[in-house]
Amino acid sequence: MGNYFQTIVDLHATPADATALAARGLDWLVAEGIVRAERTDCVLGAPLGHPPGPLWAKAVEQVDWEPSDGLKVETGRTVFHGGQGDAMYAACPHCAARVDLYTDEWDAIEDAWDPFNKAIGTWRDSGQAAVTCPRCSRAGDLTAWTWDNDYYAFGYLGFEFWDWPEFSPGFLERFARVLGDHRTVLVGGKF
Ligand SMILES: [Zn+2]
Repeated sequence: MGNYFQTIVDLHATPADATALAARGLDWLVAEGIVRAERTDCVLGAPLGHPPGPLWAKAVEQVDWEPSDGLKVETGRTVFHGGQGDAMYAACPHCAARVDLYTDEWDAIEDAWDPFNKAIGTWRDSGQAAVTCPRCSRAGDLTAWTWDNDYYAFGYLGFEFWDWPEFSPGFLERFARVLGDHRTVLVGGKF
C-alpha cells in the first residue's frame, strides 16, 4: 500500500524567515481547527507530528475518508519531491518549453537530465543554481522551473500532511495568503 502525502511548499520562504513563517502557518492551521497543537506519533519519517484537528474537513475537497495521520513542518533547504515515480518533463520559466526527461517507456534521457542533476546538486550545497533552457537559451533559476505533476519543489519551508484526502483549491489559496501571499506548490505522492 504505502503512505500518501501532500506537501504545501512555500517557494518564497527564505532561510531567514522560514522558521517564523512555519510558526505563522501552524498557528493558523491550529486556530482553524485543521490540525491540533499537540504533537503525537502520526507521521512517517519523524518521531512527532500534529494530528488532524476537529475541523480537518475544511481543508479538503471531498470528505470521502478521515485523515489518518498528521502534519510535519519541514524547515531548511529541502528538495521536495513526489516519492514514487518522477517528473516526465520540466518546463522553462521563460518560454514554457518542455524538456523531456523520460521517453514514453520511462527510460531516462541522460543528456536531458544532466544539467538538472548538476543544478539540483549545486542547489543542495549552496541554495543557488540555474539551468539553461535548450529552447530559448536563457538561464532559468532552478526553483522557477515547473515540473510535470509538480513533482519537484526547491525551497525552505514545507507543510507535509500524511494520509489526508485531497486538499481543496480554496484551502490552498487561503493558506498561501496566510503565508504572506507567497507562491506555493503542492507536491504529493506516495512513499
Ligand atoms: Zn526557455
